[in-house]
Amino acid sequence: MDDITARKLHRQAQAGFRWEGVECRPYKEDARALFRSVTRQVLFCEPEMAGELRYFEVADGGFSTLERHEHVHGVLILRGRGQCLIGREIRRLEPYDLVTIPPMTWHQFRANRGEPLGFLCMVNAERDKPQLPEPADLEMLRKDPDVAAFLNDSSPG
Ligand code: MN
Repeated sequence: MDDITARKLHRQAQAGFRWEGVECRPYKEDARALFRSVTRQVLFCEPEMAGELRYFEVADGGFSTLERHEHVHGVLILRGRGQCLIGREIRRLEPYDLVTIPPMTWHQFRANRGEPLGFLCMVNAERDKPQLPEPADLEMLRKDPDVAAFLNDSSPG
């Protein structure tokens, strides 16, 4: 089988932000990571590409892992509403918003506005392992009352 027939060149969209032939997995890369109700679908992961494109979906009330790393995220919100933490900034997210997570910046996505939050996330194919916050990092982040409220999931909807 030559390369062009081995690859799926067209994969149809299915209902509910799913795609033909794409596995939908619970997001769990690190047993220590604290997250809730997140699924991951890898949409593009080709050997010739320096990047990957994934679709994450956080169910209503869920949140992604609070983490930081050297690699950068380029995020496009595709579905629903929520908030994200970028460093010490909290932003409200709406469909089609764009979010850049710079290197070594604490970040977390939360579906805390009564809807799921689905987004595309572009990353380097070769990337460093995420770091999780130590107690001292959490203490530093929680000094900001808005960040503390976000992390406690008590932010207004
Ligand atoms: Mn990340």
